[in-house]
Amino acid sequence: DLTEICAPVAMALDLAGHRGLSQASGLADDLFQNDGQITKRPIRALTLSALAPRPAELLWDIGGGSGSVSVEWCLAARGTRALTFEPRADRMANITANAAAFGLSHRMQAHQDRAPDCLADQPLPDCVFIGGGGSQTLLDHLWQILPPGTRIVANGVTLETETLLMQAQAQWGGQLLKVEIAEAGPLGTMRGWDRARPVIQWSVTR
Ligand code: SAH
Repeated sequence: DLTEICAPVAMALDLAGHRGLSQASGLADDLFQNDGQITKRPIRALTLSALAPRPAELLWDIGGGSGSVSVEWCLAARGTRALTFEPRADRMANITANAAAFGLSHRMQAHQDRAPDCLADQPLPDCVFIGGGGSQTLLDHLWQILPPGTRIVANGVTLETETLLMQAQAQWGGQLLKVEIAEAGPLGTMRGWDRARPVIQWSVTR
């Protein structure tokens, strides 16, 4: 319908100036209202590629943070929708603001709650992203309630999450990716590589 197409386009023009918004995933971090806890642009691009949104699919975004992954999920394919789960009130406000800024309030719904408790009674998704709140309990719970064919992507930066995701791949299969990125920055009068913490990404189909 018209709102579906026009709202994000109008907002995109507003957000990104006369050239509009890039059609590729991995938009600039500063297009999203955030407190620093945001999946950074290059990692977000890889994450959207792994989530692989198709038209009309539903995402559960667990550990929503700023909601940037949900926003890009909704921008990437027609009629996609996202349920975002985030326990912190200040971050909930960012999620709601970002959904509105991108004209996606009608396709994104934010719940202020912790996983896995928050997942009861929600419509089952086509795809789940775990950007925070990952635990063995959560993975076991998801494996139990999700129908076969559901895609799951989990990102981790801590040693604890890395261990969890390594064990999960041993148990359930899927792909394990380690992403190490460095960006050039000033080093005295010259330049050097500023390394980001490695990100471990586990992708699997239930
Ligand atoms: N992908 C987000 C960043 C995620 S940061 C973005 O791009 O903005 C991880 C988030 O997980 C934090 O905001 C944290 O509050 C949230 N979190 C931690 N434990 C959680 C749990 N049990 N359930 C849901 N969210 C949780």
